[in-house]
Amino acid sequence: MPSIHPLIDNGLTKGDPNFPGGTLHCRCPSNQVVVGLKSNIAHNHACGCSKCWKPAGALFSIVGVVPRDNLTVQANESKLAIVDPTAVIQRHACRECNVHMYGRIEQSHAFHGLDFVHVELSDEKGWQEPQFAAFVSSIIEQGFDPKGMDQIRSKFKSVGLVCYDVLSPPLMDLIATFTAQKTGVKFSNL
Ligand SMILES: [Zn+2]
Ligand SMILES: [Zn+2]
Repeated sequence: MPSIHPLIDNGLTKGDPNFPGGTLHCRCPSNQVVVGLKSNIAHNHACGCSKCWKPAGALFSIVGVVPRDNLTVQANESKLAIVDPTAVIQRHACRECNVHMYGRIEQSHAFHGLDFVHVELSDEKGWQEPQFAAFVSSIIEQGFDPKGMDQIRSKFKSVGLVCYDVLSPPLMDLIATFTAQKTGVKFSNL
C-alpha cells in the first residue's frame, strides 16, 4: 500500500474542538521560520493536487484553513518566498527547506481571507483532524497508476473520509455562491 500521508496511513487522531491554536515550524535544523495561529483550523483535508506541499513519500497533502487575521509570522520571515506568484493561492515557502508555511489569496476569491496551513508542522496536539479527501483523481496527473485508485479510495473510506475529485460540497457551495453574487444574483433565502 503506497503512503497516502503519515496522518492517514495509520488511522486518524481526533482533534480537540476547544484547541486554541499553536505554532508551525519549518523543517530547517536551525533558524526555523515560525508561524503562530491564534485558533484551530477548519476544513482540514487530504489534497491530491500538485501544488500543495506534502512530506516526502506521501501521495497527498494535509491542508486546512485559518482566518488570515489569526496568522502571524513570528520568526525568520526573511526566509520565506512565494512559490508561484501567478497561482491563486500564494504559497509562502521556506527557501532553505522548501516547506510551505502558509498559502494566502490576495485576489477576489471565495476563499479570500482564509490562509492555508499544514498543521503537521506543529508539535502541539489537538488540531482538527482531516475531514475529507479532495482532488483525489489528481494524483494520476502526477504519475500515480490509475489502476491503484480503488485501493486509495478504499483506504480513505476505511478511516472514515469521503473522497471528492474536486472539493467538498460546503466548499464547492461557497465558490458557487461567490460566483453567483459576483454576477449580481441575490438569494431570497439568505
Ligand atoms: Zn526552513
Ligand atoms: Zn492541494
